[in-house]
Amino acid sequence: MSASRPHRLIPADSRIEKSRVEKLEQHVQALMQELHQARYEQRREALTDALTGLGNRLALVDAFIDAQEATVKGAVPPALLLLNLDDFRALKNSAGHATADQILITVAMRIRSAVRENDVVTRLGGDEFAVLLPATPQNRAAAVGNRILAALEPNIDLGNNSIRCGASIGLRTAEPHHSIEDLLQEADLAMEESKNEGRNKLKVFDPATLHARLLQRQIVGELREAIRSDQLVLYYQPIVELATGRIEGCEALVRWKHPVHGLIMPDQFIPVAEATGLIAELGRWVLRTAVRQLHEWRHHPATAGHDFSMRINVSAADLQSLEFVDDVSEALAEEGLAPESLVLELTESAIIHNNELDRYTLASLHRLGVGLEIDDFGAGYSSMGYLRKLPVDRVKVDRQFVKDLDEDPSQLDFLAAIQQVIRSCGLEGVWEGIETAEQAEALRSIGCASGQGYYFGRPLPAPEFTEQLARLRTWPA
Ligand code: C2E
Ligand code: CA
Ligand code: CA
Repeated sequence: MSASRPHRLIPADSRIEKSRVEKLEQHVQALMQELHQARYEQRREALTDALTGLGNRLALVDAFIDAQEATVKGAVPPALLLLNLDDFRALKNSAGHATADQILITVAMRIRSAVRENDVVTRLGGDEFAVLLPATPQNRAAAVGNRILAALEPNIDLGNNSIRCGASIGLRTAEPHHSIEDLLQEADLAMEESKNEGRNKLKVFDPATLHARLLQRQIVGELREAIRSDQLVLYYQPIVELATGRIEGCEALVRWKHPVHGLIMPDQFIPVAEATGLIAELGRWVLRTAVRQLHEWRHHPATAGHDFSMRINVSAADLQSLEFVDDVSEALAEEGLAPESLVLELTESAIIHNNELDRYTLASLHRLGVGLEIDDFGAGYSSMGYLRKLPVDRVKVDRQFVKDLDEDPSQLDFLAAIQQVIRSCGLEGVWEGIETAEQAEALRSIGCASGQGYYFGRPLPAPEFTEQLARLRTWPA
């Protein structure tokens, strides 16, 4: 509204004298301007994050609607960068609220400084920031994201000390059908990928990841039901004494007989079970089923008298459970089995954190008398030091080593050295992944005690394995 030609608020033909009218009109104009300003302030406040002065979630929605409208008119779609600080919760717990706020304010300023004037920088809450880049193709958005990461690189000065505060960023460019919720959700998925891959990096949304996550969610729901409704089955694979061919044991390997998808292999659902805590229930089921099966074999006319042990795979979560030792001893007692008839296979990564609880559980299991074996030895960190420190009595060498033998027979010297180390630690070695007679013979020639692999037998369901056991109490080499 122009000040020179004020809008006529009071009729000109009023009997009120002219100067008073003008004064009144000026007053009303001023009031209206104040109102206008107040509305503007109110709106600004409603769109602002109080701590950092950046936009808030509402501002993001507002900007997204504008950008999508522009897209309809032919503009390049907007891109969203979703940023989450790495280890912020731990930092907040150790440094306190005030310091945490100071860090958030610094981060906000750094993000702002790394983007263009018309990019919309918002804080969604906590340590989560979102930057909407109007009309920005993916490669340019990725460059902006990396610029933000670079801006966060230097330590933040906190007076008496300074800290580094990295971030993980997920990038998603908008599709025409996207709502802001879709866009945030998919950017969030990409951001989580960045966290999974070691943080402090930018990840672009990938539809395959979305698919995998959805599948994972479906699997979780169904797996819970599968454990209870007997859709899981154990397959058994023989473990053979290389010198004599005697079947000295078997490994129980779980499979899921899915009513629609058929047989699902453990690699497809064990990681999901581990990530969601379902592994405890699954582990208990495996323990009970395997031990019951061993009891059956001990009493089956065709297999009675065949003294061999059952190996089951144990996950990190089992070692962390206070009830695990009791579960094991109860399962054995119920079936009247000696503890030595059960061997627990533990991967290096399951025991690598080597904390108090792990140590306590391992010591208790050892006292109980069950066998303890390190699985996939050599595939991970493989510190020789812990071979001596842990109360384990067996080592299962990762199949990679046997595979390497085919490509380079001179590797046999190396395998002999591994075997030597295992023996000098007072442990027994089991070699897995033996697929050919040549491999079996090579390992036997360097004094390896036991082997497992397709050459001796594939994992089989209980009835078929029973038949095999009855037929071959020793392996016919
Ligand atoms: P793992 O413990 O290393 O088990 C050995 C895997 O190698 C099995 O795969 C087995 O079928 C396969 N294998 C055996 N012989 C050969 C061979 O000669 N050549 C090749 N290429 N492979 C061979 P599977 O059954 O798919 O199991 C995969 C992994 O799933 C296991 O690796 C184990 O980590 C996990 N897993 C299986 N059952 C259980 C379970 O009951 N509980 C837990 N926590 N994990 C399990
Ligand atoms: Ca195993
Ligand atoms: Ca293994």
